[in-house]
Amino acid sequence: MNQSNSKRSSFPRRRESSKTKAPHSGQGRTHRSSGGRKNHRDVPASQELSDHLDSRLRGNDDGPAAIILKAGREKSLLRRHPWIFSGAIERVDGMPASSDTLPVRDDAGNFLAWAAYNPDSQITARVWSWHEQETIDARFFRNRIANALSARSELKLADKSNGMRLIHAESDGLPGLIVDQYGDVLVMQIGSVGAERWRDTIADILQELCKPVCIYERSDSDSRALEGLELRNGVMRGTLPDNVEVIENGLRFKVDVAAGQKTGFYLDQRDNRALTETLARDKDVLNCFCYTGGFSLYALRGGAKSVLSIDASGDALRIAAENLTCNSLDATRAEWQEADVFVALRTLRDQNRKFDLIILDPPKFAPTAAFAEKAARGYKDINLLGFKLLRPGGLLFTYSCSGGISEDLFQKIVAGAALDAGVDAQIVHHLHASADHPVLLSFPEGAYLKGLVLRVAG
Ligand code: SAH
Repeated sequence: MNQSNSKRSSFPRRRESSKTKAPHSGQGRTHRSSGGRKNHRDVPASQELSDHLDSRLRGNDDGPAAIILKAGREKSLLRRHPWIFSGAIERVDGMPASSDTLPVRDDAGNFLAWAAYNPDSQITARVWSWHEQETIDARFFRNRIANALSARSELKLADKSNGMRLIHAESDGLPGLIVDQYGDVLVMQIGSVGAERWRDTIADILQELCKPVCIYERSDSDSRALEGLELRNGVMRGTLPDNVEVIENGLRFKVDVAAGQKTGFYLDQRDNRALTETLARDKDVLNCFCYTGGFSLYALRGGAKSVLSIDASGDALRIAAENLTCNSLDATRAEWQEADVFVALRTLRDQNRKFDLIILDPPKFAPTAAFAEKAARGYKDINLLGFKLLRPGGLLFTYSCSGGISEDLFQKIVAGAALDAGVDAQIVHHLHASADHPVLLSFPEGAYLKGLVLRVAG
């Protein structure tokens, strides 16, 4: 039986009290095991439902819990896109609690999917499975996790790196769940109420299958707020070693699992960093948004004449300096600057500094499409300045990791920047995240990282 449906008859009927806003009791609900009966702690969920969901969406309280879509709004599900936005929902039957697994049906009642329900999010449901006969339970998660792990072992990445993304959320059939491996430490990040409900089960399975010395939870990304989840940061299983490091293509990088960005390191840029190394010989390199020095160290090893690296985070730069030392690279060719890149690029322009290879790898300017316009201005600004700082024949490595900016739009923004900078440029490479960040074909949003290598005319 699916977790929610086995108990639907025990749902408390408290619509009459729905005007009393209850405190958010997410922990009590989301940690309830699939076998447990609902208790009084579930009552606030129905109250919250009333608060957050348009009253028109309230369906038949006495019927089985289900999400019924508006006529015609099943199309994206039929194409196997795993998100159901609130606007596509005709009504929600029964009295489901947030994080319950519900059947999603079209307006004629046909089954479409099992999905985790979140009345507090614009993404009101995320699909676990397209198969009616499937049960969303510990075994389901074990299968999905084991699948993701065997897909990673087929990549033979272990020869290149002891750090890799083991689970890439929707694209591995596990919406809202990210798991990164750094040696024998796993870092787990949960970004949806559906995955949150199963967090202990997931940790148990990871412990059993991967046998790490530590599972650390970094559920503290901004996107948790959009799901109505509190931030969490701490050890879940085992003990966190004093030093966690990634050895990537022979380069050692310290990983600050507890306080670093994302889960501590940008595994997605592994292949792109390696490409930079092959193109850096005898060049003056500028690495903007350098974090702990990823691209900088590869460029130095690749024989760059000089590498100027800029980041706003002093903590990241301190780790970058340690990384430089522990890799025995020539520190005299490296310069580090703690600065706002938007300001620093203007200063470099005013100083008439020139470079042969520039990397622009900014943070996510547009987490969703709603921020796309503002983000586009940011991308255009740094790319325009980047083009101006390049010598003839120079290379620009430019990236966007914004889910809200498509590859096509990004290319247009960069083209506009080149035009305004007065340079002609060719695309030499189209870049993406490394293969341990697969993209589900039916979920283009999974392709968040896109990059271009451009060569300006000589
Ligand atoms: N290229 C890096 C990852 C970059 S992540 C790698 O391969 O590891 C983005 C970085 O941008 C973060 O380190 C963050 O501190 C920095 N950052 C964010 N806003 C900034 C700004 N306005 N100026 C400078 N750095 C900024």
